[in-house]
Amino acid sequence: AKVEEKLFQNRYLVDAGRPHIKVKPHTTPSASLMSMVTLCPAGCYSQTEGGQVEVAADGCLECGTCRIVTRKTGEVEWNYPRGGFGVLYKFG
Ligand code: SF4
Repeated sequence: AKVEEKLFQNRYLVDAGRPHIKVKPHTTPSASLMSMVTLCPAGCYSQTEGGQVEVAADGCLECGTCRIVTRKTGEVEWNYPRGGFGVLYKFG
């Protein structure tokens, strides 16, 4: 199956009020953080009108890309979701 079809099979359970990924407050994002707007496979990252980068962790696939990409800048706080929350893989 295509990756889109596989993604469609996954369900996502939102842990309300406890996002597992946070972008630290900043005025200007680093190039690494900025690249997440296009790199995140789930499209969780976006740019605000003010030029900051924000994340909406709903739908996050827990691929870890943003954690690795921003490892050096430390702009992203990344924790695994609590047990039972987050992406629930039906296959795989
Ligand atoms: Fe996107 Fe992956 Fe980071 Fe989740 S872990 S926000 S899917 S890059």
